[in-house]
Amino acid sequence: NTFAEIDLGDALNLNIRRCKYVKPTPVQRYTIPISLAGRDLMACAQTGSGKTAAFCFPIISGIMQGHLPQRPRGSRTVFPLALILSPTRELSVQIHEEAKKFAYQTGVRAVVVYGGAPINQQLRELERGVEILVATPGRLVDLLERAKVSLQMIRYLALDEADRMLDMGFEPQIRKIVEQMDMPPPGERQTMLFSATFPREIQRMASDFLSNYIFLTV
Ligand code: AMP
Repeated sequence: NTFAEIDLGDALNLNIRRCKYVKPTPVQRYTIPISLAGRDLMACAQTGSGKTAAFCFPIISGIMQGHLPQRPRGSRTVFPLALILSPTRELSVQIHEEAKKFAYQTGVRAVVVYGGAPINQQLRELERGVEILVATPGRLVDLLERAKVSLQMIRYLALDEADRMLDMGFEPQIRKIVEQMDMPPPGERQTMLFSATFPREIQRMASDFLSNYIFLTV
């Protein structure tokens, strides 16, 4: 079982080799084919299980196979195609670092935004273009309210460490964010929910945000 056997595309496969990943981890082996097939997914995954690649690979592969829309020049609002929500600045920065390696020389650009840091530098990065936005919920709501970011083009949504986001009180922000994606055209979004635990609140979020999803515990 190797990455070469999974149809991720040449550019991504090259980057996977550059990262010295040879074999998929269990969570990658089970979730990536499901996501590539276009299904929504709720997966149990612990830190260190390789879940970052599990949601990044299908996102990058899907964006590359689709038609990359022209980035509107000089527009004040940016339209990312994928959104990865994570609970903390540290985790968001880490996901962004990995996403950049996986998307190296693919034309797919990843940008990270998080709270507790000046917004201006983040705005400049966004204005250079963004296909994959990695964000903490509070800062993203701020950017949505300032109309700096629109979620109308989002085709992929990944919620990482969803249980931790709920523990930190981010549920209202997450709901506000997802509501903005439910504008027309509907049914275009593919959602991946990763959580270490599955309390009732997470199950409710899954039934609200995912459609016809596959539940996986690895
Ligand atoms: P994560 O759970 O996504 O934080 O990944 C944990 C660590 O495992 C990170 O340092 C990854 O770069 C690494 N990793 C993820 N997938 C693989 C793989 N298939 N082969 C080797 N290392 C991996």
